[in-house]
Amino acid sequence: MRARLALVEWLLATVDLQQSAGFALEWLARHCDVPRTVCFSVADGKRLMPTAEMGLGSLVSTDVPVYLDDQNHPLVVALRRAAPSRLNGLPPPLGAAFRRPIDAFPLRGHAAPDGTANGLLLADSIRPEYRADVHWAVGVLGEQMARLRSRDVLAETRFGRERLLLMGTLNAVTDPILLTDAEGRLIVANTVAERFFTAPDDASDGLRQAVALNNMLFSAALSSSALDSGGPSRRELVLVDASEGSDLLFELLSTPLRSGSDGTVIASVLRNVTDLGRATREIRDSYDRLRLAQAQVRDQGRRLDLIIDSVADPILVTDAAGDIALMNARAERLFAAQAGASSDVAARVHGNAARFSSFASGVLASGAQEVSRGEMTLVDPRTNVPMPVEAIAGAVLTRQGELIWIVTILHDRTESVERALLYEEVKRASLELEERVRVATRELAEQNETLRRQQLELEQASALKSQFLANMSHEFRTPLNAILGYTQILLQGISGTIAPGQRGNLASIDANARQMLSLVNEVLDLSRIEAGRMPISLTQVDVAELIESVMTELRPLIEQSNLAVTAEAAPGLPPIEADQQKARQILVNLLTNALKFTPRGSICVRARRLPQRPAVAVAVQDTGIGIPTGELKSIFEDFRQVDSSTSREHGGAGLGLSISRRLAEMMGADITVHSQVGKGSTFTVSFPLAGARS
Ligand code: ADP
Repeated sequence: MRARLALVEWLLATVDLQQSAGFALEWLARHCDVPRTVCFSVADGKRLMPTAEMGLGSLVSTDVPVYLDDQNHPLVVALRRAAPSRLNGLPPPLGAAFRRPIDAFPLRGHAAPDGTANGLLLADSIRPEYRADVHWAVGVLGEQMARLRSRDVLAETRFGRERLLLMGTLNAVTDPILLTDAEGRLIVANTVAERFFTAPDDASDGLRQAVALNNMLFSAALSSSALDSGGPSRRELVLVDASEGSDLLFELLSTPLRSGSDGTVIASVLRNVTDLGRATREIRDSYDRLRLAQAQVRDQGRRLDLIIDSVADPILVTDAAGDIALMNARAERLFAAQAGASSDVAARVHGNAARFSSFASGVLASGAQEVSRGEMTLVDPRTNVPMPVEAIAGAVLTRQGELIWIVTILHDRTESVERALLYEEVKRASLELEERVRVATRELAEQNETLRRQQLELEQASALKSQFLANMSHEFRTPLNAILGYTQILLQGISGTIAPGQRGNLASIDANARQMLSLVNEVLDLSRIEAGRMPISLTQVDVAELIESVMTELRPLIEQSNLAVTAEAAPGLPPIEADQQKARQILVNLLTNALKFTPRGSICVRARRLPQRPAVAVAVQDTGIGIPTGELKSIFEDFRQVDSSTSREHGGAGLGLSISRRLAEMMGADITVHSQVGKGSTFTVSFPLAGARS
């Protein structure tokens, strides 16, 4: 189909007979494999002249006229036939050039199917499969010859010639040119315009549709421009390239022409601006992109400024010559003197700039490594306070490695320097402290050692003392017992009668010896307790019996005292756990003291179960002289007495309570005292109940 279209296009594009015939024969050779052809045309209405040939050497240049009045000439016979015919022979030179049989095709337009043909085409060796194509091509060539013949006829008149000239001129223009009526119907179109707005009879559906679309678009463009304005108009129009199917952009110049009888005629010239439009669009796009990029760069620049200014550290950008090109607000305080600043401030700013410049040139001299570091001491221009900084510089290089900028960030080291100083001080103080602690520890260790030694010595001394006391007590007891024994013998009159005055003296010896024995016993007890050699034997003890035995033991003393002494135990008291003998010793001591320190009144011994804990309390309450509050604690210490004069009156060495408390503790009991001077005292011993300890 494309091949056929090509032939039609060629033929439409030419008004030359020879060229047309040449195209057709070449097409037959190429597309239908017809090797030898010759085309004759009728000249002057008298003869057949060869117009073009293919595969026959130089036959065309040879003038071989065949006269139409030669009625028997095979070519004339074939020319006159309505349909193609087959020739079995031809006179030389054609006869020799062709293989037989030879097909002869009369060439005539469809408008004159039976009329005289305008030419004749001879061919041999046509292959059956191409026969239809050959017939088609012959038909098209016949139409072309008829068209050209009619042009020739037309050209014979002056008007015809001029019109032809005009058409030739229009066809020579590469832009589509059209003359249409007001509705857009085509009156005249040059060859290029025909490609867009007319379809040959055998055109494909696609081509027809494209042409119909173009006509529609064109009519619409005309109706909305040329007619509205009434004068020349210019607008853009998109048409479909019918052969390629692509869209083409045209500039449509339409001018309405008034032509009396035909009404309004519109002359339109279309200029293909597809490339121009595309280029314009691209330029507009590039321009838009450029504007966008510029805006982005501006935005980024603003953002960068904001970021840089918000950084707490001073930032400076220097160029390749070492000059400061840019700095943030923090850097400006150090390196830029404000308008109206004092000369001092300006001098400090200058000093800072000089120090920084020396650092920057150092970085440049070192070949601007990726990152360089340095330290310098600047001053705060307003306060003149020194400001040690660490400078970190980074080089910004081009792709070729060429230095463009050096970006330097200054980090204030004041705090870290102060911290380092503080750290040193703390370290020194800590070392001093360590040394002091070491010395103190050594001294303490020495003191500990001394104390340990002293304690050892004391323990030894105490053991010796206890040993000495135990020995001495023993040594005292033996002669004392002897004194008591002999005194009793004398008093009982075993060794003879004694005078009444002597009896009184002997009784005095006996009393003093007994007091001394009790004193020695107390010292012996104390030394045993201290030496940890006081034996304790815990058993179940009945409290009522215990009190009874104490009262019995002290009966003589009670009777001498003239005091009302009573003892009462609450009924059903549970047994206590105690060393019977030691418990009695404690109660004897308490009751003896009560008797000693109660000049008048009464003494009451009471036993009761304690409600708060599993114990039985035995209280010895008197109406005696009482004990000052300040002395209540000390009376339990060794050898302590409230008033030493009373000891002379009542005897005693101040050991009774001390021994009693120690014995009570050894049995799990305790002693408490309540007293009021002049009113009396109450000593209470609390014994644990039997079995309460487990
Ligand atoms: P002493 O052998 O001197 O009585 P104690 O140790 O038994 O030694 O008593 C110490 C001191 O406590 C006594 O000297 C006395 O001053 C005081 N004391 C003890 N019991 C009583 C009491 N019931 N009333 C007043 N004072 C007392």
